[in-house]
Amino acid sequence: MFSQRVLKSSAPLLATAVIGGGLYAASLQSASQTQSAPPPPPAATDRIVQTSTQRSKEPEKIFTSGFSFQDLKLQSSEVVNHNTKRLRFELPDKDAVGGLRALSALLTKATPSGAWLPVLRPYTPISDPDEPGHIDLLVKRYPDGKMSNHLHSLLPGQTLSFKTGPLLTYEWTPNKHSQIALITGGAGITPMYQLTRAILKNPEDQTKVTLIFGVNGDADVLFEPEFRELERKFPDRFKAVYTVSNPTASSPFPKGYVTRELLKAHIPGPEERDIKVLFCGPPAMEKAIAGSKGLLGSQGGVGGVLKEMGYSSDQVFKL
Ligand SMILES: Cc1cc2nc3c(=O)[nH]c(=O)nc-3n(C[C@H](O)[C@H](O)[C@H](O)COP(=O)(O)OP(=O)(O)OC[C@H]3O[C@@H](n4cnc5c(N)ncnc54)[C@H](O)[C@@H]3O)c2cc1C
Repeated sequence: MFSQRVLKSSAPLLATAVIGGGLYAASLQSASQTQSAPPPPPAATDRIVQTSTQRSKEPEKIFTSGFSFQDLKLQSSEVVNHNTKRLRFELPDKDAVGGLRALSALLTKATPSGAWLPVLRPYTPISDPDEPGHIDLLVKRYPDGKMSNHLHSLLPGQTLSFKTGPLLTYEWTPNKHSQIALITGGAGITPMYQLTRAILKNPEDQTKVTLIFGVNGDADVLFEPEFRELERKFPDRFKAVYTVSNPTASSPFPKGYVTRELLKAHIPGPEERDIKVLFCGPPAMEKAIAGSKGLLGSQGGVGGVLKEMGYSSDQVFKL
């Protein structure tokens, strides 16, 4: 997903504007049974007052639809590891929320110093979409990366431009699959974290989630405390498996790459018709595990290790 080729070519395909519904069901109170005659229905003006009061309680959602860009101020920038920062941007109103659906990203726009033209790149917010006042991005910096270096250089108070209509990379439907496997590497963890939290936060969604996260070094294992906490809270529904190709001598993580053996040991096999495997990672890992994407960011059919294991193209989606 995070390859330059895919990003640039697939941006139009990904540009699915999500139209937020803002309808409210009027709350109806059942009349208690009394011996006296039922009270008259509220006057029309009372009903209007009640509805507008309810509406004013619903927080404004900033990222629902549209092609315009909105500047947000950087509130804080925190170093997470040797190449990754967490950036918190203030929403225009402290009570407003991002309001993004699971597996959505935001297109950002900036003109890095020395550049002639603006650069556009998508990033996946990692903050809770219902958390008021801010959105957080986790940004991995690439050597010579135009936008990632610009974002790492931003100071609190400076702004970044965000497209108001989000990019939906995959339409998540609760309970469509009884179990999913999320295979990821590097910064590909951000959409997987977003989706895992959305599933486990929704009491209606009973999907079981297995996360396989392959990274280069110990410091690249992102969100470990958060995932451990989710495993503790949902022991029957969530499991995270890490593998580190170059661990330190005292590493708490097992050494290795994401291999057929590792997948076989932890995720449901292709014979489980109901399994869905989502992949998100750097191009080399994508090719080895799920097969490269096709032209213009199309899925390109399953390949690599997942194909060898017998998964069909219908069972696999590359974010
Ligand atoms: C839907 C979507 C969501 C995304 N969410 C996030 C996110 O939450 N966090 C995040 O950090 N990134 C995310 N990305 C990737 C991000 O959009 C940029 O592509 C990335 O930050 C690199 O942009 P850049 O301008 O810095 O690099 P560019 O100037 O485009 O590239 C410069 C050089 O950097 C290297 N490079 C760039 N991308 C990669 C890569 N993926 N793997 C290996 N080398 C690379 C290459 O050598 C390239 O030549 C997402 C991408 C998509 C499509």
